[in-house]
Amino acid sequence: MATAFTKKSLKLETTTVEPAVTPPPANNTSFVKKPKLASKSKKREIPEGLWTKCPKCSTMVFDKELDENLKVCTQCQHHFPISSRERIHSLVETCTFEEMDAEMTSVDVLSFTGVASYTSKLQKYQQETGLNDAILTGLAKLGDYRVGLGVMDFKFLGGSMGSVVGEKLTRLIERATEKRLPLLIISTSGGARMYEGMFSLMQMAKTCAALAYHAQARLPYISVLTNPTTAGVMASYASVGDLIIAEPGAMIGFAGPRVIKDTTQAELPPGFQTAEFLLDHGLIDAIVPRKELKAKLISYLGFLSNGHTPAVVPQA
Ligand SMILES: [Zn+2]
Repeated sequence: MATAFTKKSLKLETTTVEPAVTPPPANNTSFVKKPKLASKSKKREIPEGLWTKCPKCSTMVFDKELDENLKVCTQCQHHFPISSRERIHSLVETCTFEEMDAEMTSVDVLSFTGVASYTSKLQKYQQETGLNDAILTGLAKLGDYRVGLGVMDFKFLGGSMGSVVGEKLTRLIERATEKRLPLLIISTSGGARMYEGMFSLMQMAKTCAALAYHAQARLPYISVLTNPTTAGVMASYASVGDLIIAEPGAMIGFAGPRVIKDTTQAELPPGFQTAEFLLDHGLIDAIVPRKELKAKLISYLGFLSNGHTPAVVPQA
């Protein structure tokens, strides 16, 4: 009975006895390929898209687990990059994000050509990321609060700020001012976009001017800095929040450490330009782990709206 069960479970139709050693294939010519050696080294390769190696603690983290943990290492809490859409999904109430200016795309005003033309770079990143530029903006609900929300995406040309990022943000800030809503901007950026030269730099002043009107209306603005937030973005809207919070370990600064070291000819202190260092030195107000971000933001919105009647009006 036992043998019959085994045969059935193996779906073996034949009654011949299984050989102890796998017999060579009948057709000897297939030995010419001899794939044995190659397959031995292949065995060590890990299939792509299943596991990710944590750059901080070197643990192999199962991708599904990483996604469920909001792209935070389950061992050492290292915060992996997260796309703008994933970020919005992790923060706002389901189906409340109303995107603004989704179709806006950059124009190659300078006819910039380097290794590749700006136009071809834009096309490449649009295809790769499914985004039209490095930011998504819109109105959304966090808890009971309606907010103007801008989320940058580092995967699109290093989250660089060109005229589209600046214009989309300015329109968002103006809409929030008009509707008397608080603002929430989540930044990650390498700085101004060199392909647009002066047009990129102008966005620094433009976004900050719009924010000044928003502040004048006594409406709160919370800036969230994620890894990395640097250069022209850090030197404009990212650093002028009523509250500035950062994710753990985020690299935050204006110029890179090597440039500063060469210019000042001084040894830089340990932990220079990290969120933790900047919290100690008073530039940022809090470091909030990604998994606590939503709850903390809702609590901050409540705190900032309290006692300021014209400010945040919780939605029913
Ligand atoms: Zn780790």
